[in-house]
Amino acid sequence: MRLDASHIAVTVSGRDKGVLTADDVMVVDMYGNPVGTSARPSAETALHTQIYARFADANAVLHTHSRTQTVASRLYAKAGVVRLDGYELQKAIAGHTSHEQAIDLPVFPNTQHMPELVEKVDAWIKSDRPLYGYLIEGHGLYTWGRDMAEAERHVEAFEFLLGCEMDLRRLR
Ligand SMILES: [Zn+2]
Repeated sequence: MRLDASHIAVTVSGRDKGVLTADDVMVVDMYGNPVGTSARPSAETALHTQIYARFADANAVLHTHSRTQTVASRLYAKAGVVRLDGYELQKAIAGHTSHEQAIDLPVFPNTQHMPELVEKVDAWIKSDRPLYGYLIEGHGLYTWGRDMAEAERHVEAFEFLLGCEMDLRRLR
């Protein structure tokens, strides 16, 4: 979560996300440098700080690795995007008021080298296409919101929408 203009709270690297306590969360600056602790931040901190830096109204960023997200990210990796269209639940994504307003969720190639991913995300933003979240191939989802509740709603909505897409692919 964003704390102020130059600090964010992020998970300490390698902690069990199912049982997080205050001890598992640390402060970093906008460059990902630890502040007031010797703990090591999440390996993907650069992806979090990037979103806070690019989107002034993003105050919470969430990253998840669900099975549905992972399968979808592999299935759509070649296309580079999952188009979500015709679902009432698209309205769960901030700024969307109709099922007719399609949402493009990009899929970026996975890498352990964060600057490459940061560059891919920046290229999408610079192309002037809206961005509400993205998948990383074989890895998971990033999405964000004005506050934690909105970020959680976005995770849940993308999880649901990607699940529907997977079901349709299976059943068609
Ligand atoms: Zn991850």
